[in-house]
Amino acid sequence: MSSELSGTTALVTGGTSGIGRAAATTLAGLGAHVVLSGRDAGRGAQVVEAIRSAGGQADFVATELGDEASARSLAARARELVGHVDVLVNNAGIFPFGPTADTVESDFDEVFSVNVKAPYFLVAELAPEMAKRGHGAIINVSTMVAEYGANGMALYGASKAALVLLTKSWAAEYGPSGVRVNAVSPGPTRTEGTVGMGEALDQLASQAPAGRPGNAAEIAEAIAFLATDRSSFVHGAVLPVDGGRIAV
Ligand code: NAP
Repeated sequence: MSSELSGTTALVTGGTSGIGRAAATTLAGLGAHVVLSGRDAGRGAQVVEAIRSAGGQADFVATELGDEASARSLAARARELVGHVDVLVNNAGIFPFGPTADTVESDFDEVFSVNVKAPYFLVAELAPEMAKRGHGAIINVSTMVAEYGANGMALYGASKAALVLLTKSWAAEYGPSGVRVNAVSPGPTRTEGTVGMGEALDQLASQAPAGRPGNAAEIAEAIAFLATDRSSFVHGAVLPVDGGRIAV
């Protein structure tokens, strides 16, 4: 097992599924003690078990993210488990698609609560401690549709566009103290969360040079790059991992 992140700790939100599970597994494979969160305790236990049987270190915290209190209490639980957090991956997200006219206020609030408010207060809770220690890495998981207008993805895209700007703002705020804040911007990726899209996922992916959906491990590699010192001079970047979609 690689030891690039040995002696470090990571908190991965939404680590029970898809991209978050792949990120948790990859970071643990690099030696980090990973705390993963999600709502589904059964899936959480499975991910922890898989990481531990591969020789890694992991713990699960069941949390419904959405408001400030949930974010701060997740950070506190992570602290109890691993002492302090060196790497924060803001991955948990929801992506309901549909016409703007069909959106009800509670949908609007839920998307912004999970995709923006929870990461915001996790950073508010954890980044100052990283800054005090003089190092840390925060990786936000955005989406290619935060970069251009997509029919039916206005609400979701807007929430992730907010996360992109926060990435740059936090790079300005915490970078001088040694905390690197970056984002990955995935294209269509096969996960439990996109299973319901069926062929629409392939159709979306066919518009990019790679011509196919990505898999969660490919996104996790980019997250791992931004979590390690391999990206030591990278601050405030949004790394597209989208098969080339936004380039063409
Ligand atoms: P997924 O398979 O649906 O997994 C989502 C994860 O987020 C699960 O672990 C889920 O935990 C957690 N989660 C969702 N709502 C939560 C809440 N309110 N409180 C706590 N945890 C919550 O999704 P995915 O496809 O891997 O996507 C992960 C991230 O990548 C999201 O931010 C998404 O926007 C972004 N992304 C995905 C794609 C794609 O094509 N898949 C493309 C671009 C960007 P539980 O199920 O245990 O509750």
